[in-house]
Amino acid sequence: MIPDEVVERVRDEADIVQIIGEHVPLKRVGSDYRGPCPFHQGTHQNFSVSPKKRMYYCFVCHAGGDVFTFLSKRLGMDWPSAVRLVAERSGIDVPSVESHRAGPDPRERLWEVTATAADYFRHMLWDDEGGQVAREYLASRGVDRATADRFGIGYAPSAIGLTRSHLQTLGFDDQRQIEAGLLSQPEEGREPRPRFRGRLIFPIFDGTGHTVGFGGRLLGPGDVKYVNSPESSIFAKRRLLYGLNWAKFAIRRDERLIVVEGYFDVVRLMAAGIESVVAPLGTALTAEQAELIARYTTQAVLIYDSDRAGLRATFRSADELLRRTVAVRVVTLPDGEDPDTYVRTHGREQLEAQLRAAVDVFERKIQILEQARWFRDLHHKRRAVDHLLPTIRAAADPILRDLYVSRASEASGVPKALLWREVGGEAVDDDLVARPGPVRPPVTSGVVGGGSGPPPARRAGARARPGRRGSGRTAAEREIVRWVVLARPELERVAEHIGPDDIHEPTLHAIFAAVLRRPDATADELRAALGPDAGAVLGAMLAEGPTGADPARAIDDSLARLREYDLAEQRREIDRHVSLASEDEKRALMAKKYDIMKDARRDRQNGR
Ligand code: ATP
Ligand code: MN
Repeated sequence: MIPDEVVERVRDEADIVQIIGEHVPLKRVGSDYRGPCPFHQGTHQNFSVSPKKRMYYCFVCHAGGDVFTFLSKRLGMDWPSAVRLVAERSGIDVPSVESHRAGPDPRERLWEVTATAADYFRHMLWDDEGGQVAREYLASRGVDRATADRFGIGYAPSAIGLTRSHLQTLGFDDQRQIEAGLLSQPEEGREPRPRFRGRLIFPIFDGTGHTVGFGGRLLGPGDVKYVNSPESSIFAKRRLLYGLNWAKFAIRRDERLIVVEGYFDVVRLMAAGIESVVAPLGTALTAEQAELIARYTTQAVLIYDSDRAGLRATFRSADELLRRTVAVRVVTLPDGEDPDTYVRTHGREQLEAQLRAAVDVFERKIQILEQARWFRDLHHKRRAVDHLLPTIRAAADPILRDLYVSRASEASGVPKALLWREVGGEAVDDDLVARPGPVRPPVTSGVVGGGSGPPPARRAGARARPGRRGSGRTAAEREIVRWVVLARPELERVAEHIGPDDIHEPTLHAIFAAVLRRPDATADELRAALGPDAGAVLGAMLAEGPTGADPARAIDDSLARLREYDLAEQRREIDRHVSLASEDEKRALMAKKYDIMKDARRDRQNGR
């Protein structure tokens, strides 16, 4: 038997769209995915996969279930094997009585060395004379034993050969210690040397908790403050996030992830009870790390140093996240503080307040440019816009991108149309802090002259025409539902494009959902399944009968109108934002945006 909580965790972590997508060609429709149903050999898009619910369902043959049901039905495997298969792909260990594993992971022999070394370092920190200086250092940083133990913090002795011979007596030869990154061999024939000496040691774990490497900090000030394990088959800095193994459940719970710069920041925040926090290993976020983050959340909050290097890392990291449709907010701590020192001196509550006051990364960029008066100075305006463009381009979420363009236009006075054209242009180096080289001509004289050219390049689908004929969204919804009721074969056409959530008016929604649930129900049966209000509306539809045009055309028309209303709605929001000066309202709009993107996150799971 596989324990229930393991099954649940595997289901939760599995990328259902990806897995089913290997058997069914899926297309995104709203927040779900659609494709032909493999169970009744359907040819229409009636088979729906919901990443949010982690379920699939066919509106025609009613096949439905979770990712395990799908695999067991589709591949004819028994259910436990399906769970194991999915677990393996998500990197989750499934404890079992009789294991069917295909042999040990080849990295096991290195994980063994690093885990053993971590134990040894911990021992040296607490139980050895030589650890005194490290214990004092830790105490000076305000880290107590319980906290240190929680993170497995240790001390690599400065005496050369100590760790090496300890590991040797346990059967780990030099070769294996070299492969694990504990020893380095400067040249062939020379004695291997320990990589970590006289340093405080932070063991680094991968997402599933294997010890894969170390970060070693000098005890006090000095030149190379941090040394990390070298790249190896178990340690790839670009793909690792310090703290993820502890943070992964808190991230889902808190629906956000805080990204800080270093080990001490992670340790401090987690010890203070803020557990959804990770740090890259001494760099800005890489594309791989952003990808990893996007698997867990759509909401990142960056807290980096507010010095130049920190700002640069903030904006680089933010762009990587935005490319994955993760929304990014930025906390700006007082000068000279980092999350570690801030929580240590001000406490958790104050940091929570800072987190609540975090501003969108784009807003932060604009703040900085405004403070430097770049928008008021004609000569800097062009450069100011250049600094904004990379972030606008990075925003993969079309609504957010639109919002950014509006905001950039508002701040700079450059018309949106011109900005859109620029957004379509080639990439600009994103170095907000210092940009060598000549100042380019200002936008206002340089580009306006060409403003009579073709309309700006826009992302497909981002253009809406809210002014079109029709008496509102509800009218379009009613038309669709009416045809579905009256001409049941049209249901397939409709279900290809929209789901129940796309019909907003409550009675129409109820009718549509009832038909989807039982496509072959008679009118009487439908009415029996509905409340009085929806029943009355259904009655009116039936009485009205199939008036007017050919159903297929009427439906396509109404579907198109529905889409337009959706886009128009989004646009109205954006435009409202532009006309608002109040910070609070901007923040509220952003918050709403984040909600929309929370749904988009599931779409993105397969969108890469
Ligand atoms: P401390 O880490 O002791 O708090 P700090 O805050 O003065 O030092 P900075 O030089 O500002 O450190 O670096 C910020 C953070 O980035 C540090 O907390 C550190 O954990 C992390 N960091 C710096 N260099 C590296 C590196 N080479 N590898 C991994 N992490 C690093
Ligand atoms: Mn620090």
